[in-house]
Amino acid sequence: MIVVCGAGGFIGGHLVNSLLTRGEQVKAVDIKPFGSWYQINDKADNIQSDLGLRETCLEVLAGARHVYNLAADMGGIGFIEENKAQCMLNVLINTHLLLASQYHNVERYFFASSACVYAASKQDKQIAIALKEEDAYPAMPEDGYGWEKLFGERMCRHFAEDFGIATRVARFHNIYGPYGAFHGGREKAPAAICRKVIEAKLTGQSYLEIWGDGNQTRSFTYIDDCIHGIDLLMNSDVSEPINVGSSETVTINQLVDIIEKIACTKLERRYQLSAPTGVAGRTSDNTRIKQYFNWEPSMPLVQGLERTYAWVLGEMSMVTGGVNPSSSIL
Ligand code: NAD
Repeated sequence: MIVVCGAGGFIGGHLVNSLLTRGEQVKAVDIKPFGSWYQINDKADNIQSDLGLRETCLEVLAGARHVYNLAADMGGIGFIEENKAQCMLNVLINTHLLLASQYHNVERYFFASSACVYAASKQDKQIAIALKEEDAYPAMPEDGYGWEKLFGERMCRHFAEDFGIATRVARFHNIYGPYGAFHGGREKAPAAICRKVIEAKLTGQSYLEIWGDGNQTRSFTYIDDCIHGIDLLMNSDVSEPINVGSSETVTINQLVDIIEKIACTKLERRYQLSAPTGVAGRTSDNTRIKQYFNWEPSMPLVQGLERTYAWVLGEMSMVTGGVNPSSSIL
């Protein structure tokens, strides 16, 4: 039996479906009420419970062969900059899941880490230098969220070394796609811009608000590539942290260009220079994932955004009364 933690979330929901399609028996766990899960699959054993608690982890991991830890209290840059302590409390989830995995002799444990572990000094230029796995040290990750992820990675390493649990760690770079947050404060740039462009079209608004000067660079990884990367890593012998990220790098302005083109619109850009923007430039160096698996994320950004835009549009069309434009975040 496989346990997916954070199954009501964006990546967890896609992972549950993928595992079920392969015929696996899946226990899906999330703290949110079922009505708030992005996807819920009746073929899984769905459980609403708090994985920050040791008793819950001991209970839900009984009989587990593999555990995927995708549970975290997190969101886009606005959320993580304003909720550093809350993000650091995710350490309770990873700690109790690892202890319960040790107790139940779990074969494999997956931890969802992040590009936010990388040292700030490697990301201070808008022309991004691709981040290699070793660039996480000397450590100076994103305050709060990034430090917790880096600590989580090292816990996995030492649980493997000292207690023999096979741990696998992926550093995700901006995962995007359908069935995730697109409003409410936890959304990331691709879904947020899709929503803002749709809102502007629906309301006749002529402008778009962008956090920062729009020249910050990022790479964005489509959800199907993320799920494939998790699968490769989990079923490998690779115990060190590995980037799972696209190397197709764009500025936020270019991201907006693509979404405007999909939406057949052009909006005035209003730059909010005091809003949170994160690092100046970040992209994924895929040398290592290619070495290990002869593979790297390959979904072209345009195609992934077409699918994401279509999904956000569908969701917004279903909501009578519309989404509250004041919840904008980017
Ligand atoms: P998400 O917010 O959509 O999903 C996380 C889920 O964890 C949520 O449904 C939440 O309710 C659940 N959760 C939080 N606290 C919990 C608790 N105490 N007990 C049980 N469930 C709890 O996020 P996501 O985008 O699916 O991210 C999944 C993982 O990948 C997270 O660890 C995240 O930090 C990591 N990650 C994501 C990205 C990205 O771009 N999406 C990038 C880097 C790392």
